[in-house]
Amino acid sequence: MKTVVSRDQVQGDFVKKVAEISGENFFNCYQCGNCSAGCPSVNEMDLLPSQVVRYLQLGLVEEVKNCKSMWVCAACLMCHARCPKGVDISKIMEALRVLRLREVDATAHIDVTDFSDDYLERAPQIAMISGYRKFLPL
Ligand code: SF4
Ligand code: SF4
Repeated sequence: MKTVVSRDQVQGDFVKKVAEISGENFFNCYQCGNCSAGCPSVNEMDLLPSQVVRYLQLGLVEEVKNCKSMWVCAACLMCHARCPKGVDISKIMEALRVLRLREVDATAHIDVTDFSDDYLERAPQIAMISGYRKFLPL
């Protein structure tokens, strides 16, 4: 299959947004594959972590947007620890999840007053923090 890569695609809005939210420069990656070799979730992924970065470098947005990998990433940071260029793919995966969730419902956000005191006492703090990151108003 022939894949055409254009400047508009590489510098598209979605790619810029992923870079902005994650704070990562995809072009630091030289595709050594160390991240994918150490990822504990890779058997469940349809795109390897290194492939997610490569697709972003090429602006292949639809492939990245629809990949399962972002949802099975365990945010364990192994990829970051193994990367000789310091690329933090966990931040890229998080940025992808945030953007996808915003696309599903741009108004979705957590309002802490919606939860009962009882729930707030029982809810794991990390789940709340994670929810805030994903459901902040635009
Ligand atoms: S380890 Fe770093 S440089 Fe190597 S493929 Fe992964 S992100 Fe790219
Ligand atoms: S943070 Fe995600 S992509 Fe990176 S090694 Fe862990 S599970 Fe894999």
